Amino acid sequence: MKILILNEALEQRPLGHVEKRCAVSSQTIAKLVRKNIEVYIEEGAGLLSHYTDEDFAKAGANVVSDIAEIAEHIDILACVNAPRESVIAKLSPGTVVIGHLDPFFNEVLVTKLADANLTALSVEMIPRTSRAQKMDALSSQASLAGYAMVMKAANSLPSIFPMMMTPSGTIKPAKVFIIGAGVAGLQAIATAKRLGANVLAYDTRPVVAEQVESLGGKFLNVDIGETGQTKDGYAKELSDEQKALLAQAQKEAITSSDIVVTTAQLFGRKPPVLISKETLTSMKPGSVVVDMAAVSGGNVEGSEPGKTIVLNDVTIIGDGFWSEGVSKAATDMYANNIYNLLDEFVKNEPIKFELSFEDDILDAAVITHDGLVRNDMLLSAYKGA
Ligand code: NAD
Repeated sequence: MKILILNEALEQRPLGHVEKRCAVSSQTIAKLVRKNIEVYIEEGAGLLSHYTDEDFAKAGANVVSDIAEIAEHIDILACVNAPRESVIAKLSPGTVVIGHLDPFFNEVLVTKLADANLTALSVEMIPRTSRAQKMDALSSQASLAGYAMVMKAANSLPSIFPMMMTPSGTIKPAKVFIIGAGVAGLQAIATAKRLGANVLAYDTRPVVAEQVESLGGKFLNVDIGETGQTKDGYAKELSDEQKALLAQAQKEAITSSDIVVTTAQLFGRKPPVLISKETLTSMKPGSVVVDMAAVSGGNVEGSEPGKTIVLNDVTIIGDGFWSEGVSKAATDMYANNIYNLLDEFVKNEPIKFELSFEDDILDAAVITHDGLVRNDMLLSAYKGA
């Protein structure tokens, strides 16, 4: 069995972003080789996450400068993002393609993968179950993103996070407000707390109040009526009336904060807009807003993905490239997720990727197979239902 890993820094990405992450690390290459999987890796694939070609070769990979010849012979292509079209065109029918395929917003790509008869596994569709935790790339990457974006906000704040009492005076701790306490939000809360800030948080799913408090944050209680969550634990969309009530209730918390971090997402849909331009203009001079949903549409009116803008002396950081500053950690975690997935589904004698749709993880995450898009949620989204 052969697996191919691409050098994704070679690809043209939206907004000029350079992907620094890689789908394997030296450690996971060695483990794949021990499982009798031959690893082929495009030259330079690990450089931006601080793994040299020599490191990968020493771990047992075959480093190749031109992937054209090997591409049609591989069984699995493991990527961070969707593979480039020139690679898709070379793969043989039945090849398993794994990566962040962003399928709800990428119908053209998903159709191409189906038309090429590839078995595409979208890591975003892996269910949030106990068995799937070790392969849950959405969670491993969101945790790091929560940390990285709070560090970015701390560097942009013209003050400090902890309280400082000195003979020259006392500086009060920074006030940080986190909106959305999922995986990224909880890590953002933990990071801001560790740095000494006072942390307030809100989420439409009241079940997370306890988790916020266990990290030392305060939960903002707002009564907007029934909110709840889907059977998979994702937030439900609010009514217009609920959104207005919420915006009003959060305005005070936002305008009295030094840093606001928004992480609100709705699975398979555009994220909700939570902070208006009008609210931004009433924030404290020098305060910082981080919009962690900027790439998928934005929680903050006017934020720009991958850019930092200043509006009325308020710095607005649009997420997009969170992994740039933590590429080594992000690669290590993602590589572990990919290894754990392969360890679960690659069976020996004869060695093969065992594809069974009786398995809840594969049933949810494999979105194309045998020439068809095979996920009902996606098919309804594509029909606009
Ligand atoms: P997400 O990225 O989909 O959303 C981030 C957060 O934003 C969520 O907590 C959501 O409730 C919140 N949100 C949405 N709209 C909002 C609004 N208008 N205002 C404030 N907050 C809003 O979430 P996620 O981090 O991917 O987590 C989704 C679910 O999956 C959670 O229930 C989480 O506990 C669960 N999960 C389970 C596992 C597991 O069991 N293995 C692993 C990871 C996550």
